[in-house]
Amino acid sequence: MFNSKAEIIIITAETYESHRKPGAAMALEFPDTGDLKIEDWSFEALSKNRIEILSGTAVTGGDSKSKTLKLEDSKTLEFDKLILATGGIPAVPEIPGITLPGVHTIQTMADTSEIGKQLSKMNSIVVVGAGFSGLETAERLISLGKEVHLVVRSRLMRKQLEEPMSAELLSRLPDKLNVNTGVSPTALLGEKKAEGLLLDNEPLAADAVIFMTGVRPNTVLAESLGLQIGSLGGIVIDETMMTSINDIFAVGDCVEMKDPLTNEPILLPIASVAARAGRQAGVTAAGRSKIYDNLLRRLQYDHIFNTDIVVIGHSSVSANALGVKTNIQYVEYPTEFAKVALVTTEDGRLIGGQIIASRMGARLGYEILDRVERGAFLKDTPLLKPRHERLREYIESTFGPIR
Ligand SMILES: Cc1cc2nc3c(=O)[nH]c(=O)nc-3n(C[C@H](O)[C@H](O)[C@H](O)COP(=O)(O)OP(=O)(O)OC[C@H]3O[C@@H](n4cnc5c(N)ncnc54)[C@H](O)[C@@H]3O)c2cc1C
Repeated sequence: MFNSKAEIIIITAETYESHRKPGAAMALEFPDTGDLKIEDWSFEALSKNRIEILSGTAVTGGDSKSKTLKLEDSKTLEFDKLILATGGIPAVPEIPGITLPGVHTIQTMADTSEIGKQLSKMNSIVVVGAGFSGLETAERLISLGKEVHLVVRSRLMRKQLEEPMSAELLSRLPDKLNVNTGVSPTALLGEKKAEGLLLDNEPLAADAVIFMTGVRPNTVLAESLGLQIGSLGGIVIDETMMTSINDIFAVGDCVEMKDPLTNEPILLPIASVAARAGRQAGVTAAGRSKIYDNLLRRLQYDHIFNTDIVVIGHSSVSANALGVKTNIQYVEYPTEFAKVALVTTEDGRLIGGQIIASRMGARLGYEILDRVERGAFLKDTPLLKPRHERLREYIESTFGPIR
């Protein structure tokens, strides 16, 4: 504990108990349950640790000079330090019919729960967007027996995966999932309710459409407090997560950060970054000077459709967008049914990696993460060779060449 005297209040518009948002697709199956809560961080457990929770309470505005927040019940709350973690707002395309009933996004557990309650009336569903959350949603819907169409603007996880890695992932998706790549929705079908999509003007009929097309920073409260907003639309913060105004911090999907490699502003709306940044803001707000390393590195690991998908640091797409030239090496691990892409700068420093594997994604991921965090050169610290090659080398060095 960094400060044993501070009074801590968490204010959230949500009414659900503390939960893991990346697991939100679970609520399609369990729309009424509280089983998805994190026991250690339940409201009751938090209150035992002197953390008061005001759930179901929206903050409608604030004043940074008087250090007050205005709550939706017209109450005013004073603060010494404030941490904003207001998250993101679904970024949906502005196309005709986007506000029709039957068009959904999943940003909160309540969104998923609402879809879950209506699921018995939906047989065919379109999921637009093939990031982690789009794939998780598609997987869950298929396991619930639905006909699912996945719509992908270019290729699977274009910003996170190299092209051959996208192709590898695509080859592992089940035949039951109807994947439409290289197409964009141009309009919703239906007059009173969504009845599908026009995909580059070709109709695709469905009972519901779920847009999993990412988020943009939610800066409504930040703007009312007069905080600086950056060129990418997120709250500007420093390495301690302090905003442009002293004693106000911001973390998670609502901020823009500085890329560790180039110092350019980036948006990185992912859970691991939000969680680590939250710890940094909490420690600083509690009066400590500690600054954690590697806060802003992408680290995503999921097991979807029986496939480990691991993404670490930069891909060539994200690095090139910041002006960093890259080389890519691919390694196959047949015994682990794995394909790996290693992303290096032109002089050979490892800045990212991607793994598509049936198993062992975590083992390979750890090797890559460790090197990326150390800024290691691949030639000095190559990854462990595939097991069959290591065995072959051992046998040959002991008994002579194998024919
Ligand atoms: C379905 C889904 C799947 C995902 N899967 C992955 C994944 O596999 N891997 C990964 O890394 N990331 C994933 N993410 C992203 C990850 O969940 C987010 O990056 C993370 O939750 C961001 O945390 P946050 O605290 O910034 O915002 P959030 O978790 O969005 O929390 C923001 C909170 O602020 C509250 N709020 C906002 N404004 C106000 C206000 N004015 N008053 C009161 N309360 C307010 C909201 O109600 C909400 O509770 C997924 C996201 C979704 C939606």
